[in-house]
Amino acid sequence: MHFSELGLSAKVLSAVEAAGYSQPTPIQAEAIPHALARRDVLGIAQTGTGKTASFVLPMLTLLEQGRARARMPRTVIVEPTRELAAQVEESFVKYGANQRLSVALLIGGVSFEDQNKKLERGVDVLIATPGRLLDHFERGRLLMTGVEILVIDEADRMLDMGFIPDIERICKLIPFTRQTLFFSATMPPEITRLTDQFLQNPVRVEV
Ligand code: AMP
Repeated sequence: MHFSELGLSAKVLSAVEAAGYSQPTPIQAEAIPHALARRDVLGIAQTGTGKTASFVLPMLTLLEQGRARARMPRTVIVEPTRELAAQVEESFVKYGANQRLSVALLIGGVSFEDQNKKLERGVDVLIATPGRLLDHFERGRLLMTGVEILVIDEADRMLDMGFIPDIERICKLIPFTRQTLFFSATMPPEITRLTDQFLQNPVRVEV
């Protein structure tokens, strides 16, 4: 299997090549074609399996059509920690090098005003921790109605950190016309309940 067989755009493929990857990992080979077909995906995978690129690469391809509007992010990725959010941002910068996309990080410990200015200019990819995302929403600086793709990453860590009520709120704020890509290393009952409620006919990919 080669990356060129998965349906990714030429721009994304050339960035993958520049990163030095020759073959997709199993989760990438399985999840990417479904994500590109706008299916919901439930990915059961640990860190280290290449799961980040399994959502970043199809999202970059899908984002080539259309453009961002003020305060209405086109995609939202929720991460349990600032460190993970920053790593995902790096992936978008690396694989999105051939595209002109606006990527914003909404995490605690960073000035609200700088984040607010970015939101006002329009954001294609918003990567956030749950508390800071909801904070901006409550201040009226963020509209969730235009979100095309929602990613919930490391769901079982969100559970450990007490973020499930926040995740439920976020899933309810974003219209159900969205596509949802959901990742967890394990599937405890609380997470199964969440995926039953918020995913629509998902493809289950387990590695
Ligand atoms: P992740 O599971 O997303 O945290 O990725 C683990 C590591 O694997 C990261 O350092 C990636 O840069 C690397 N990686 C992701 N996809 C590939 C690939 N197809 N071939 C080689 N390395 C990869």
